[in-house]
Amino acid sequence: MVIVMRPGATEDQLQAVIQRVEEHGLTPHVSRGKTQTIVGCIGDEHRLEEPVLLSLPGVARVLSVERPYKLASRDFATGSTIVPLGDKATVGNGHFAVIAGPCSVEGHAMLRETATEVAKAGAVALRGGAFKPRTSPYSFQGLGEEGLQILARVRDEVGLPIVTEVLDTRHVALVAQYADVLQIGARNMQNYALLSEVGSTDKPVLLKRGMSALLEDFLLAAEYIMTEGNANVILCERGIRTFERAMRNTLDMGAVPFLKRETHLPVIVDPSHAAGRRDLVEPLALAAVAAGADGLIVEVHPDPDRAKTDGDQSLSFEMFAHMMHVGRAVRKAVQ
Ligand code: PEP
Ligand code: MN
Repeated sequence: MVIVMRPGATEDQLQAVIQRVEEHGLTPHVSRGKTQTIVGCIGDEHRLEEPVLLSLPGVARVLSVERPYKLASRDFATGSTIVPLGDKATVGNGHFAVIAGPCSVEGHAMLRETATEVAKAGAVALRGGAFKPRTSPYSFQGLGEEGLQILARVRDEVGLPIVTEVLDTRHVALVAQYADVLQIGARNMQNYALLSEVGSTDKPVLLKRGMSALLEDFLLAAEYIMTEGNANVILCERGIRTFERAMRNTLDMGAVPFLKRETHLPVIVDPSHAAGRRDLVEPLALAAVAAGADGLIVEVHPDPDRAKTDGDQSLSFEMFAHMMHVGRAVRKAVQ
């Protein structure tokens, strides 16, 4: 249920509404817009009587929210959410952000070089996996804490905030010590213990869509993080598994405008894991920009053919700079 306050309702009137909601055992979530404030109510709606709420001073309307997700729903917010990426960059509500870097952190020199080059081309955050979710237990699993230390060092040297994946509830505190943004990978989108754990940190979360997740499942995964008190969630469409084999995954481009209508959270696209091959990354990225995405996360490597992970889909510095250049033109055209 959402209680919409009248424009010009006083703070005392708002507090009286909040108190009434709490008295009935529901949890209020206040969203203050420029002209209007709304109070989303989580809990058993039957305990709140609509006529009683409507009679409270300052209340304009009472709406019931049919959707299974509440905090992530547009109905629960007065505008689009802007999520911080470190202390200089943001994503959402017209703030377009490109996050770029290698699939995995392989060492200091390659990470520093990549960070310098992607920053020059316009990226505002650096990605890089220290803990890698590999399909085979025999594949390179990432540098672990050493990888996190390299990321933090490069952040200090180059000035880009860092986005890195956390795979396991046991590592959340450790990864949160280093990262500016915690990434939850596609394979963990429905790991509810992990979602709750990152929801209790104060770090923004980049949540990737599971390979077989419905958009409703995806939004409910965001809801898990948000119910723990962490409102800074970035949704990332990265392609799903379908019968199609030509590319690594099928990029669900329709997810972008759909999610933008359903939720106030920023929606970004990962064209790298969708395409699985570097020649298709730029066209998918451009399509995402045209579809209204709030940003991109792209894999870039100094020597893609020698990358330890995901080299086939990693862009060279030149390819990344080209994608950024054309991307700006597409953004301008659709704005
Ligand atoms: C990654 O970003 O390197 C990654 C493993 O992505 P996903 O979880 O989307 O497969
Ligand atoms: Mn990867």
